Amino acid sequence: MVLVFDLDDTLYDELSFVRSGFKAVAGYLAENYRLPGEKLFSFMLCRLKIKRQFIFDDTLREFGIFTRRNVQKCVSIYRGHKPDIRLYPEADRFLKSFKDLPKYIVTDGNKLVQQNKLDALRLGGRVDYCYLTYRYGLKRAKPSPYCFFKVCERERVEPTGVIYIADNPNKDFVGIKPHGFKTLRVRKGQFHEIRKTDEFEADFQIDSLRDLTLPLLRKIFGNRETAK
Ligand SMILES: [Mg+2]
Repeated sequence: MVLVFDLDDTLYDELSFVRSGFKAVAGYLAENYRLPGEKLFSFMLCRLKIKRQFIFDDTLREFGIFTRRNVQKCVSIYRGHKPDIRLYPEADRFLKSFKDLPKYIVTDGNKLVQQNKLDALRLGGRVDYCYLTYRYGLKRAKPSPYCFFKVCERERVEPTGVIYIADNPNKDFVGIKPHGFKTLRVRKGQFHEIRKTDEFEADFQIDSLRDLTLPLLRKIFGNRETAK
């Protein structure tokens, strides 16, 4: 039984990363342009509620300092900052109590950003390996099963011995289910309300990692697998 976790919105609240990034950007702009940091920060948060694109463009325009270069600078501060984020308490508890099971992470996204998150959450020492899919090229990102087969190779197991625990039915499960990987959806984060067709949905669903228990894993894997 090999457990593979997604990162964003599965092990921690991704919005907390966004807020942390906005804080870093607001701090930079406040310092370099003598602008009110709190106002910059709350503008970005309000703007986020409308849509998640061009937030820095709009913020810089609002405060009268828009240039392409400044947008680039904001993006690089956002991506490079050391995030102030924490694991969901139930994720932390799970990792503690299931220490002996092989555990992996497979996550999409900018390599630097994802690595900063893993470092901030101190996950490196708590799982066997973290696969940042973008390291292997964009076409290896989910829904590609590429990194999941790497887990199989490393653990010398078939896909049926591996479960992916993740939150986004748009891309997390559809590519790996046909190969026999087990799938479990955690209804957390920005996708928690969406419903997809069976092809995209996980085999099992839970509301929180609190519900990820040994009896549930036994049910998903069948008792024979669990005994190994
Ligand atoms: Mg996710």
